Amino acid sequence: MSERNAPAPASNFLRAVIEKDLANGTYASRRWARSPGDAAHHAAGEPDPAKIRTRFPPEPNGYLHVGHAKSICLNFGLARDYGGVCHMRFDDTNPEKESVEYVESIKEAVQWLGFGWDAFGASQLYFASDYFDFMYRAAEYLITAGHAYIDQQTPDEMRASRGTLTEPGTNSPWRDRPADESLALFREMRDGRHPDGAMVLRAKIDMASPNINMRDPAIYRIKHAHHHNTGDKWCIYPMYTYAHPLEDAVEGVTHSICTLEFEDQRPFYDWVLERLAEGGLLAHPLPKQYEFARLNLTYVVTSKRKLMQLVTEKHVSGWDDPRMPTIVGLRRRGYTAEALQLFAERIGVSKADSWIDYSTLEGALRDDLDGRAARAMAVLDPLRLKLTNWDEIFGDRQAEPSSAPVHPHHPERGTRSFNLTREVWIEREDFMEEAPKGYHRLFPGNRARLKYGYVIECTGCEKDADGRITAVLATLVPDTKSGTPGADSVKVKGVITWVSVAEGLSAEVRLYDRLFTEAHPDAGGRDFLTVMNPDSVRSVQAFVEPGLAAAVADDKFQFERHGYFVADRVDSVAGRPVFNRAVTLKDSWGK
Ligand code: ATP
Ligand code: MG
Repeated sequence: MSERNAPAPASNFLRAVIEKDLANGTYASRRWARSPGDAAHHAAGEPDPAKIRTRFPPEPNGYLHVGHAKSICLNFGLARDYGGVCHMRFDDTNPEKESVEYVESIKEAVQWLGFGWDAFGASQLYFASDYFDFMYRAAEYLITAGHAYIDQQTPDEMRASRGTLTEPGTNSPWRDRPADESLALFREMRDGRHPDGAMVLRAKIDMASPNINMRDPAIYRIKHAHHHNTGDKWCIYPMYTYAHPLEDAVEGVTHSICTLEFEDQRPFYDWVLERLAEGGLLAHPLPKQYEFARLNLTYVVTSKRKLMQLVTEKHVSGWDDPRMPTIVGLRRRGYTAEALQLFAERIGVSKADSWIDYSTLEGALRDDLDGRAARAMAVLDPLRLKLTNWDEIFGDRQAEPSSAPVHPHHPERGTRSFNLTREVWIEREDFMEEAPKGYHRLFPGNRARLKYGYVIECTGCEKDADGRITAVLATLVPDTKSGTPGADSVKVKGVITWVSVAEGLSAEVRLYDRLFTEAHPDAGGRDFLTVMNPDSVRSVQAFVEPGLAAAVADDKFQFERHGYFVADRVDSVAGRPVFNRAVTLKDSWGK
């Protein structure tokens, strides 16, 4: 962890719910048989050592993004804080679109964020598709108990009979068919005797319910599709709204936290679990669903479909492009797990949708890196500076040793060493032939300090045939070296960062910016591709302190006065790091 003083997590409505449940012993009677299962399975187990169980249930159909990071920090964080466990569950009940590549990337992202699923001596990594047998058995039970029926209306007929927000729906002609008939048809569905769409299994609830989700929702459909885990065993698959509560229940989840769009599903969530508890398939206390506002971040799109489009249409270099809001992208950009945790803590959880400003994310990164990133000098827009009186001061010596702290607030981290030489690179913007008032850097006749070096006096510049400045000329002021008694004898207002021409390391530095120019790229149905920032990346050939040749992938630095940079984890090679700008030193957007 960074050394920020971790504040006590702010309270929120979810913490309040959990604290109340713990105080009331709501879940104290639960038993846990060390693996998911039905009521009988758990009844044979021990009292659950986990005080609460939460879960993070991604569908393995894409890479995780910053919104998922919020959900991960929330679910794993609550479990950690209350003596519980958070299950890593792959919600892989939809046979299409899911792949092992995504499963692996999701596991890696969660672990990188600092969380794991080993708890109470066991791995709590689960695949929803492992519960297909239970889901099927539960569906048969619902049919026999008169709570579900096979509907053979066409999809259009079903849509038409569903009603609207203001009008009730109408009962399907198949609604009151005998349970035996539904059961036989359901088994035929399972046995592959019917094509996709021929019929569905629907819960029998109330076609006049004001909540459309309670108007006999479909719970099983036919889909002749190969599944990455179960292969061709099944040709019927549960609907998400049916599968999810069952997954929670067999895993003994206590607090099932999801985003607000599932609020209207909560009555069905409770309905189906109650019916299965009546049938003895599940035991009380049952899981409860709670909804929180999803993360909406300005200048970012988080829909998996849109992120996928950016990748497949090659608007970015891949899922891990440093401009992507994916966890792999953020990591490559230079984000730390601690910064994302800090961000999640700061934005908190609420029940109302809102937009979080992108600068909040950047601020969390700055605050995390400030305390720990090693400092270094880098010149991003190099201009040669010649110290014309070098020989008078140093004679034959070609290099004057200089040093600087690795971190200004951590003397124990030691110093970094580099040499001042007769020619150094400075930023082009640090010299002006004619300087306006208030400019304290280099212009003829002015003095400034080469950081960690000497005070110098600018004497002029050299130009090429086109009048472009090719070098700045200056003289060293004797006895003014930083750290020596004479350092303060000459007062200057400007400090110039520099890198030795003879010893500096040439490095590619990628200056990243926001991917979109509009705060709400996809607002109002706008095509987000039309507001891509044409300057979201710029590559420069820079010079950096020679010590940075030792930088390895993911090493982070503050390039003094430029911002925070990371050695790119993909393109860096030994001795030749490529640097990504993670974030500038100050928030410069919208100013
Ligand atoms: P899709 O875009 O395909 O609908 P999704 O964003 O819902 O996907 P899932 O894989 O289903 O992705 O999400 C896993 C978990 O992450 C869910 O519990 C979901 O609530 C949570 N989650 C997803 N996006 C956000 C977000 N922007 N903010 C907070 N939580 C999120
Ligand atoms: Mg989803």
